[in-house]
Amino acid sequence: MRMSLMLNKRVTVTAATALLLAGCATPTSPPTDGTPQVLTALYPLEFLTQQVAGELASVTSVTPQGAEPHDLELAPAQVREIGAADLIVYIGGFQPALDDAVAQRPPRAVVDATEVLALSEGIGHEDEDDDAGHEDDHDHAHHDHDGDPHFWLDPTLLARLAAPVADALAELDPDNATTYAANAERVAAELSELDSELATGLATCERDVVVVSHEAFGFLAERYGLTQVGLSGIDPEGEPSPARLREIRAVVAEHDVTTIFTETLVSPKAAEVLAADLGISTALLDPVETQVDPDADYRDVMRSNLEALRLALGCA
Ligand SMILES: [Zn+2]
Repeated sequence: MRMSLMLNKRVTVTAATALLLAGCATPTSPPTDGTPQVLTALYPLEFLTQQVAGELASVTSVTPQGAEPHDLELAPAQVREIGAADLIVYIGGFQPALDDAVAQRPPRAVVDATEVLALSEGIGHEDEDDDAGHEDDHDHAHHDHDGDPHFWLDPTLLARLAAPVADALAELDPDNATTYAANAERVAAELSELDSELATGLATCERDVVVVSHEAFGFLAERYGLTQVGLSGIDPEGEPSPARLREIRAVVAEHDVTTIFTETLVSPKAAEVLAADLGISTALLDPVETQVDPDADYRDVMRSNLEALRLALGCA
């Protein structure tokens, strides 16, 4: 009896070791503790993935809370952690360090928002000659999404990731496939409801030009019929140039802009100085690149953004 138990144990250990060794080559082998370990690129993807996973997976963000995701850097230990993950949900092309890590040590499963949503190539990288084109480009330019990673500010685009994330989780953890699918449907419906609130709330406004800190709001602006003008471009930069400030002044005067929007991860100094100089206000418009308040999730922040926009734009 004792012998056979020991024998069984020995066999089990050997089988487990074999499974571990084969881990890299067998993408369908279950994770060691049975709970999928899921990494996401930044907060909005963490929110979405967490909603789909519920309690069934461990979901974290590679970009630490409060950090600027545009210039994410990864320590070697984090690169190893990415390689050991069951799933990563990220935005291909947005964060070069993360692109490299995923290429070097791919997790077992990958959901790339750039592919799912067919976002433009060269995402996160502005044209080399962007500065030269500033003068005529940004004033009333429509948003063509070139190089813009901030799709999550259109809730309908974030919603479109729910099903692919559910599918990836279901492959890792087939026993819970039904729950993942149901969770995905629920969060997609909630995001659709949020979209309706934004559309209704921004339908009838006195103004439609939004002056922002960095041009994170192109997808939102296009969805709800607004025009964004940024102190800096798609990447948050340092101080805006004197030429850029002159352009902003002209936009403010021409469109009776009441508010220059600031955000939490970028210094509000330039916006505050300019607003004070022009005798207009500043207010917070959150690009939801990180979770500032642990009690306010993506939906709460987007609803705060809606109120801030309605006030600044004089919406009925
Ligand atoms: Zn950004």
